[in-house]
Amino acid sequence: MPKLMKKSTARTLAALLAAAFLFACACVPEREKRTATFFDYFDTVITLVSYSDKAAFDEAAAAAEEIFSSLNKLFDIYHEYDNVVNLAAVNRMAGERTEVDPAIAELVSAGKEYFELTRGAVNIAMGAVLRLWHDARINAEEDPEHASLPDEAALAEAAKHCSIDDVIVEGNTVLLRDPEMSLDVGAIAKGYAADRVAEKLGEMGVSFMLNCGGAVLTNGKKPGGEDWIAGIADPAAAGEGFAAKVAVDSAALSTSGSYLRSFTVDGKTYGHIIDPATLRPAEGTASVSVLCVGISAMTADALSTACFVLGAGIGGELIEGVEGASALFVLPSGEKIASGGFPER
Ligand code: ADP
Ligand code: MG
Repeated sequence: MPKLMKKSTARTLAALLAAAFLFACACVPEREKRTATFFDYFDTVITLVSYSDKAAFDEAAAAAEEIFSSLNKLFDIYHEYDNVVNLAAVNRMAGERTEVDPAIAELVSAGKEYFELTRGAVNIAMGAVLRLWHDARINAEEDPEHASLPDEAALAEAAKHCSIDDVIVEGNTVLLRDPEMSLDVGAIAKGYAADRVAEKLGEMGVSFMLNCGGAVLTNGKKPGGEDWIAGIADPAAAGEGFAAKVAVDSAALSTSGSYLRSFTVDGKTYGHIIDPATLRPAEGTASVSVLCVGISAMTADALSTACFVLGAGIGGELIEGVEGASALFVLPSGEKIASGGFPER
């Protein structure tokens, strides 16, 4: 979501993504590689790579940007826009049924299903709690000297207003039954957007690799029939080096890690993925990447966030139970644990 992103964070993200794509495409010099990069959507860096001819690529990039731009407004929980009923408006109108764009209804319904699938580890109804951590992180970025953690009592109070059962989707309406609750779709929105863009580019007949801030999706092959290869950044060396590389063959790969969005208080680092069980940042995993074959990028996005919360043990079990999904956990020690037959190269 377009909350404030520190310039250094944006640069690090851009460097990481650029490195991943350079790496992905280094082996095929014959046809010209084309890249489009978008900085203005979902508070992240989005890169589209393809070897199609210039006219087709320009058309594909324009179509992709249009979708990202409109979904970014719809799914924004921090700002409202003229003539758009977005999630910020749904949150503001908590307690009342709101007519929404079908994309919002679809995303929120999916969010309810992911709560079940992930055993509550991903809860889009946790907006009240997530907001407190988000504000603490933004304050820390703006004024690191005075960084502080959210107030314990405020967290406990917010946690009373996070019931997924109070999120009701009927047709193209959403009702948040608890007036004190709010939605935060940060764990799944980029995956949803990547799926929608991929669908459109597929219809246009373009082979591509899309990286929407860590949700990577490919369609078709590179020239010469080679697979697209994604690099999984080494969480211990932001911007340099890879923990692994993996072929993403008409599949989705989502990575969740807290190394890009975190803040420090009294020498301890706090990430942006919150464990609903403790109301504190999940610890124990440096990054987790989930590969989904025949499943959406949104599901990969939900599963990677869930695995980050649950850790390699329970998260690994979750992955084993999802047909088409596999995962690579990178621990803070650098140790890697694969689940479900993750095809690391
Ligand atoms: P990123 O946005 O960095 O790619 P994720 O897909 O893992 O990473 O989503 C993290 C975002 O999801 C957070 O910024 C926050 O908005 C939201 N979030 C954090 N923890 C949870 C959780 N347990 N359940 C649902 N959403 C969460
Ligand atoms: Mg996610």
